[in-house]
Amino acid sequence: TYELGLQNAKAFLMEHDDYLVVSHVQPDGDAVSSTLAVGWLLSCLGKKFVMLNEGPIPDRMNFLWHADQIVNLSVTSLGRTYKYIVCVDCADFQRVGLTKQYFAEDAVILNIDHHPTNDAYGTYNLIKEDAAATAEILYDLIHGFGLEWNADIASAIYTGLLTDTGGFRYSNTTPKVMSIASQLLTYGVDGPKLSETLLEEMTFAQLQVLTKALSTLQMSDDGKISWVYVTPEHMAECGAKNDDLEGIVNYPRNIRGVEVGLLFKVIDDQAVKVSMRSAGKVDVAAVAQSFGGGGHVRAAGCRIEGQLDDIISRVIARVREDL
Ligand code: 5GP
Ligand code: MN
Ligand code: MN
Repeated sequence: TYELGLQNAKAFLMEHDDYLVVSHVQPDGDAVSSTLAVGWLLSCLGKKFVMLNEGPIPDRMNFLWHADQIVNLSVTSLGRTYKYIVCVDCADFQRVGLTKQYFAEDAVILNIDHHPTNDAYGTYNLIKEDAAATAEILYDLIHGFGLEWNADIASAIYTGLLTDTGGFRYSNTTPKVMSIASQLLTYGVDGPKLSETLLEEMTFAQLQVLTKALSTLQMSDDGKISWVYVTPEHMAECGAKNDDLEGIVNYPRNIRGVEVGLLFKVIDDQAVKVSMRSAGKVDVAAVAQSFGGGGHVRAAGCRIEGQLDDIISRVIARVREDL
């Protein structure tokens, strides 16, 4: 049960020392804030720990407590392996990316996540499928320690909730989410500032790459599937970074009548990253899983080897099976 999972996670964090805290590749707001929340908890417990990600964290999250201390493996390497690992917001082991090279052979893993597709790869698994964000689970976990909350930890948790619910708008915005958010505001979170910084603000490159993507917009004959793509050339022409693609997939998905919106990001001539969003009828986690990915019913993704045109046809054919 969830209660037992919380107890086991608490014991795991109390009993050992020298932890490695990791999240998924191309981290989103929930991945970053969950990493920081575990770091904050470990620092309160007086534990040694390192926070690590395969790549950089999005610039817009730099203001968060200790965000600059998440080691970016693409610029810094760690000198040794770690035995005690905490993985947050990672639906499967592959999602940790290259950080796994720093897991000791006898590593003990605590897997904290909210994806229904999570395969329980941890030694301990704290998985709550109906949590809006991994940050929601961390709210419960941290509460169990009886620590004094402040604006640092509250802002981290709020960030995960805000980003994974699309600004408290998606169907995962439960009464519990709203009540946690309300509590976090009393701990000193600046709600409007976080919405502005995390959701509203755009870079020029982001808007430029959006216009490129929208120029590729297509729709199926029945109007139920719509998609856009982005190429490495688009990215280079705009000077865009990966996190500049955040939110683009919502444009095809938001078209009236569309059930599934797709973004195809060409990585190179070998592979394409696919982002999927559903209006509710199609379980895109199942679609993504059939291509080796995963996610949630309404938001999922995968990476597929091959050429863009071929991949677009295959994904659309697979979505059509479920329409
Ligand atoms: P996004 O489209 O924003 O990259 O991802 C949407 C959701 O799908 C997120 O919850 C994310 O964790 C999940 N997701 C995206 N890509 C992958 C993938 O390659 N593998 C798995 N297992 N999940 C993914
Ligand atoms: Mn995530
Ligand atoms: Mn999440």
